[in-house]
Amino acid sequence: AKELGKNRCIVFNKSMNEEIIQRVLLEKSMYEAIKNKEFIIAYQLQKDLKSDSFTGAEALVRWRHPEKGLIPPNEFIPLAEETGLIIPIGELILREACKKIKNIQVKGIKDFSISVNVSSVQLKSPNFIGSVKNILNEIDLDPKLLTLEITESILMESLAPNIKKIEELRALGIKIALDDFGTGYSSFNYIIKLPIDILKIDKSFIDEIHTNQKEKLIVGGIISVAKKLNFNVVAEGVENIEQLEILKEQNCDKIQGYIFSKPVFENELDKLLLK
Ligand code: C2E
Ligand code: CA
Ligand code: CA
Ligand code: CA
Repeated sequence: AKELGKNRCIVFNKSMNEEIIQRVLLEKSMYEAIKNKEFIIAYQLQKDLKSDSFTGAEALVRWRHPEKGLIPPNEFIPLAEETGLIIPIGELILREACKKIKNIQVKGIKDFSISVNVSSVQLKSPNFIGSVKNILNEIDLDPKLLTLEITESILMESLAPNIKKIEELRALGIKIALDDFGTGYSSFNYIIKLPIDILKIDKSFIDEIHTNQKEKLIVGGIISVAKKLNFNVVAEGVENIEQLEILKEQNCDKIQGYIFSKPVFENELDKLLLK
């Protein structure tokens, strides 16, 4: 038994070491990736149900790694946050997304908006609002076309200072979306106090609305309260017609999901918008 314990310990240490090496390598290649412009944006369209048209998109980062290929955000955002690299990466994404809004405007689509995910590390950074202002000025962008998505859990982390920052951002004319709604602990008691414009219902809530009567009731309730509070409501992760029909009935404002489009790169986005 003793020996078994020893062996186990050795195996554990080995894999720990490997994990550390992997992380160090990943961090190093993330530095390179910023320099080499390997972070690219995939855009996922959002359809407005009332006008039945695509009125916006969410910017979702991808890492085009020279050897590993396309790496999804869940595999590098956590380390980027730990190392602080999310700050330059986030700024890069925000700048690109703002340029894309401008580019779409020039193509003749005047009111197309893009929403960008903001990490808690970015929001905490004292330079965040300044850097947003700089980018808006640099690109000469109408701020109302930019939405920043902030998750429920980030907001709740330190509520009072975050509310202050969000109010500052909204004063610039930027829209704020509460992302991943329903996955954290927030109740409508909180939501009433939040200075937000848009509420995004998380995919995990949408998954079963067409097969589970209770889930359908909950989402219907969320939408009706949110609309009474004057929030614009976006449902995320909509994959089939049954879900879409229910959300239409429930008066949801916008739909984002594979039913309309997966996240696509810039060229494909242009094709989808201009056809
Ligand atoms: P999120 O903000 O909740 O983004 C929605 C995720 O759901 C995206 O995954 C999107 O591709 C996926 N999705 C959308 N519709 C459907 C659908 O109908 N079916 C299915 N199965 N999935 C759908 P993605 O692109 O892998 O992003 C994962 C998460 O990574 C995001 O979740 C967000 O939290 C984070 N993320 C992505 N881009 C950025 C970024 O630029 N900055 C930061 N800080 N985080 C980002
Ligand atoms: Ca999001
Ligand atoms: Ca989500
Ligand atoms: Ca999320």
